[in-house]
Amino acid sequence: MGKKVYVAGGGAAGMCAAVYAARNGADVTIIEKNTRLGKKLSVTGNGRCNLTNLDMRPEYYNKAAEGRMKTWLSLYGPEETIRFFKSIGVIVKSEDGYIYPVSGQASTVVSALENEIKRLKVKVITESQVKAVKRDESDGSSYLLITNKDKYRADSVILALGSLSGAKSTMSTGDGYYICKQLGMGYKDTYPALVGFKCEAGDVMPDAGVRAGARISFFLGDELITSESGELQISKDGISGIPVMQASREVIKFVTEKKPIVASADFFPDYDDSDFEALKSDMLKLRDDRTLEEFLLGFANSNINDMVLKKMKLSPSMHMKNIAESMASCILDRYRDIRFNITDSYGYLQSQVTTGGMSLGDIGDDMSVAGNPGIFCAGELLDVDGRCGGYNLQFAWTSGSIAGTAASSMAD
Ligand SMILES: Cc1cc2nc3c(=O)[nH]c(=O)nc-3n(C[C@H](O)[C@H](O)[C@H](O)COP(=O)(O)OP(=O)(O)OC[C@H]3O[C@@H](n4cnc5c(N)ncnc54)[C@H](O)[C@@H]3O)c2cc1C
Repeated sequence: MGKKVYVAGGGAAGMCAAVYAARNGADVTIIEKNTRLGKKLSVTGNGRCNLTNLDMRPEYYNKAAEGRMKTWLSLYGPEETIRFFKSIGVIVKSEDGYIYPVSGQASTVVSALENEIKRLKVKVITESQVKAVKRDESDGSSYLLITNKDKYRADSVILALGSLSGAKSTMSTGDGYYICKQLGMGYKDTYPALVGFKCEAGDVMPDAGVRAGARISFFLGDELITSESGELQISKDGISGIPVMQASREVIKFVTEKKPIVASADFFPDYDDSDFEALKSDMLKLRDDRTLEEFLLGFANSNINDMVLKKMKLSPSMHMKNIAESMASCILDRYRDIRFNITDSYGYLQSQVTTGGMSLGDIGDDMSVAGNPGIFCAGELLDVDGRCGGYNLQFAWTSGSIAGTAASSMAD
């Protein structure tokens, strides 16, 4: 009989760890709090699941993780991920390096993992909450995994209990942090990341939502924190979209500490100063009997035009011939610097990842937990978070595979 490996948490990292441990001959059991495995995984990538990314770099992860990711990605990177999914029947496709299942369905990924888990005779116990992991004093070498219903004796335990990010249905309640702290592990404060931001009520937002290409820069006072480009989404109460989510990893700490953060949107990110001056000079030739609204009609999205005019307290029915050239130029310049005062984030429930978590100082290259031989960690529970684009799931597969292999290979 192989080693008795218990995997606490049946999300992306836990399922992957279970498959690798079982393939290595271990007797594996997954304990999952939710009614089924992979609940969060099934909603990833807007239901399409962005499994990984071919442009994989350690610097796309948080500073504390960068050095470690270099090692871990060299052991198990995107190529291994693609090969692994092929081995369980999931063929993938690349969209500019972003890797998705060909089916276009995250549910395919979950079902294929479940099928492999079943095929390998991994036992799955759902609706059971892991409460603690303790050394079994009766023999000193194994562990007791204590749930709200039962106790299990394990040779090895893989803790893959996830984070605080995601909708209520994903059960991301951060239990893992408490359980790991009980084992003496260090912890770094957590914040929601890959998340949008609420803006000051006085900030004028368009009546309808807007999506538009922009460069968004975040400032603390005069200091630029970070800048990102992509499709910006503006709603009645805040800003979101890929560039805001990417930037959120750098900005969230300041927002949570209620520091005065201002975001500035440039809706002409592809224009350098001289290109924009040339564009303006062409536009300014249109200062005739048309209205301001007509003047701006083809310059930007109509909702953005409304927002700019409201912010500048200008009436759309003003006639261009009554607006001085310097004023018209100033209106056009505004499209390169529309400001939003950030008041808060949309919080853990709407975030895709948690930054912070269990300290990597306590984690070995094989994902083992220092001072607790036989215990391993995997996934977002750890202080590892990556950019949007398949990087967080890549860490789930990387850490899950390494932990699963190591936990099932330990010497007696
Ligand atoms: C809406 C959304 C979209 C996303 N899209 C992408 C994407 O396209 N690409 C990408 O790379 N990343 C994406 N992410 C991030 C990615 O889903 C996570 O990084 C990844 O799922 C983390 O895997 P994990 O196994 O560590 O945690 P989880 O997948 O959260 O799994 C943890 C599991 O542990 C269980 N659990 C928790 N506490 C207990 C307990 N006490 N006892 C037993 N079980 C417990 C939970 O129920 C859960 O099943 C997205 C996240 C969200 C919220």
